[in-house]
Amino acid sequence: MTAPQDGKPAVLGGTPRITGNLPITRPTLPGGAEVASDVAEIIAGGQLTNGERVAAFEERAAAYLGVEHAVAVSSCSIGLLLVARCLGLEGEVILPSYTFCATAHALLWNGLVPVFVDCRADTWNIDPARAAAAITPRTSAIFAVHVFGNPCALDELTALARRHGLALVVDAAHAFGSRYAGRPVGGWGAAEVFSLSPTKVLVAGEGGLIGTRDPRLAERLRMARNYGHAGDYDCRLCGVNARMTEMNAALGLRCLAALEENLERRLHRVWEYVARLGGLPGVSVQRVRPGDRSTYKDFTIRVDERAFGLDRDDLAQALAAEGIATKKYYHPAVHDQQAYRAFRPPAGRLPVTSDLARRALSLPLYSHMPPAEVAAVVEAVAAIQRYAGDVAGTLQSARPNRKGVALNVPAAM
Ligand SMILES: *Cc1c(COP(=O)(O)O)cnc(C)c1O
Repeated sequence: MTAPQDGKPAVLGGTPRITGNLPITRPTLPGGAEVASDVAEIIAGGQLTNGERVAAFEERAAAYLGVEHAVAVSSCSIGLLLVARCLGLEGEVILPSYTFCATAHALLWNGLVPVFVDCRADTWNIDPARAAAAITPRTSAIFAVHVFGNPCALDELTALARRHGLALVVDAAHAFGSRYAGRPVGGWGAAEVFSLSPTKVLVAGEGGLIGTRDPRLAERLRMARNYGHAGDYDCRLCGVNARMTEMNAALGLRCLAALEENLERRLHRVWEYVARLGGLPGVSVQRVRPGDRSTYKDFTIRVDERAFGLDRDDLAQALAAEGIATKKYYHPAVHDQQAYRAFRPPAGRLPVTSDLARRALSLPLYSHMPPAEVAAVVEAVAAIQRYAGDVAGTLQSARPNRKGVALNVPAAM
């Protein structure tokens, strides 16, 4: 799949480093035969939902996370939405803008006002000092995010939430397997919500998992995912169908059993990336606190155009010519998206977020990625930098008004 290096980047006429296309990620999955036998058993039993596999998946996930309750749902999006609903949040909720849109959507679906605050320049996670400064008498909660799996400042945020009587909820979509001060995340705040969709590290096809230590919240969430009742059709709250299917739970169980092994392989790829790209001028990476473990849902570099010689967008285009897919996570940042126009803070209020939205680039990473592919990406980035001046000139003359093209973002619902 990888071509021998011949110097020049493909965008200048060299041979592309990848023959075909290297995707940004691939799910690392169990063997088809094992999954087929699970599905055959489920079909033979006839119980497609609310069955023993969902219960077993919840039990094993709770044990892995070291948390009392794990509630499986159909997605992380709906999990976040139901947590906000079941906690009875009102008014304003403080959250980072350097995140995936679903963090904020959970608030809008509940009629809550998102108050965006900046992230830290080193960890790329919500800045507790900025969160503290945004608290008003109308604030009911802080929604934090473990961005790319890097644990956010859980101790500081827990103390802050306690001091002001706020709920702390963590969007842990990226972070199943992450560790904070040596312990798995999942049990901090009122709840932490994981995603099990195919681009995440732990996969169930589609799915979400809510970790909580609060038995009352867990009970309400179990009702909320089942229309709002506890099996007796007497709804205590206005719920929804957010159940996980037995097929998804079966896949989740197999992937959970392989998680540590896959994470270890994944982190080796990341160390290789960091060792070989971290030293390039103009390339920096997210800081993970000593003692913490990130899952690296994505491996993302920050490209400083002055030192690198080329900006993030040009690097992405030059890598595409090599057959290497990238993602501009998170551009536009949530506060700059059209659906959030009414909640946009004054210009310049989120400088670190805006900087990352403009400069961050996620590179291909998956747990079973062949080391040769990592090497090909590294060599491509290095070659593009060696020829940065020529690459910039070629791209600029090909697309003179590229920077002026409007963003094509779906309109608000
Ligand atoms: C993927 C993702 C979600 C949504 O997860 P789904 O399971 O697809 O609903 C939420 N938050 C973040 C930060 C994500 O990356």
